Amino acid sequence: MNNPQQFASDNYSGICPEAFEAMREANFGHAPAYGEDLWTARAADAFRKLFQTPCEVFFAFNGTAANSLALAALCQSYHSVICADTAHVETDECGAPEFFSNGSKLLVAPCAGGKLTPEAIRSIATNRSDIHFPKPRVVTVTQPTETGQVYSLTELRAISACCRELGLSLHMDGARFANACASLGCSPADMTWRAGVDVLCFGGTKNGMAVGEAILFFDAKLAEDFDYRCKQAGQLASKMRFLSAPWIGMLESGAWLRNAQTGNECARRLATQIGGLPGVEIMFPVEANAVFVRMAEAKLAALRARGWQFYTFIGGGARFMFAWDARPERVDELAADIGRIAKDGASS
Ligand SMILES: *Cc1c(COP(=O)(O)O)cnc(C)c1O
Repeated sequence: MNNPQQFASDNYSGICPEAFEAMREANFGHAPAYGEDLWTARAADAFRKLFQTPCEVFFAFNGTAANSLALAALCQSYHSVICADTAHVETDECGAPEFFSNGSKLLVAPCAGGKLTPEAIRSIATNRSDIHFPKPRVVTVTQPTETGQVYSLTELRAISACCRELGLSLHMDGARFANACASLGCSPADMTWRAGVDVLCFGGTKNGMAVGEAILFFDAKLAEDFDYRCKQAGQLASKMRFLSAPWIGMLESGAWLRNAQTGNECARRLATQIGGLPGVEIMFPVEANAVFVRMAEAKLAALRARGWQFYTFIGGGARFMFAWDARPERVDELAADIGRIAKDGASS
């Protein structure tokens, strides 16, 4: 029933063994509902241990909800949120951040390579200060970005310093947070609260779980009443242990990081093999688990005809995303097919 491995998205993959096993264990017997269970407490503790800080931890079903509710918690309805023009919250969440915040407006900064800079933030945040404009209150960064670039710790610190100066909170969309940690080889603490991030949405789905994202507040005050917000938004799972237990498997075993390393390595593996081919352009630096490939339309069609699936909704190129279970041999098959198609055209 399963199709051959595809790299169209990292959420085409299944559930990794560590997450699956934790769910299986949580399935023995009964446990209290709505997050009052020991699995949920242990998962939250696993986050506090990994992040080396007593943060507030919540679990949501998906990234859209996690981002939207986290941003809503940081804003009043008359506030605004500064994000990159390519940010998922702007382009792929169907207005959920505005919806759940009762109207907080997203202010979109044009960003080369999808990364916000202190200059871009300052320019938007100081452009207007009159009563007619929604007051800037939050900055959100995606780490790694939607096109697979990773903010360095220096870049993050510069952004957070700018936020402090301007009175803005800093939110991180970490749908692929683990891939960023694997890429920089730095600790989750260094990447977040030590760099001035106030709230993190840590993606579990693309990291190898069936479903689920964690929302971490590094400043407990910001988490006030967040449990009510989750419940009202339909994000309080009654059998919460099946949303929380997989995190125990992921964090305590180290699978979160290994999974991300596998994805990142496979992305580099593809990029290395196709990098110099005629008519093949790697559109963005490969720093996480994504490779974007620009080729002529006819060549993309030829690649599809060979059975490969991919999306072209960002920048027109083919996007390949590598999940926890990406197999190097399968990556090599893709590279070989791209190579054949590239050379076909070059000789004719
Ligand atoms: C996948 C993704 C999300 C979460 O999307 P959902 O489909 O709502 O789980 C959030 N941000 C980014 C950058 C993503 O790639």
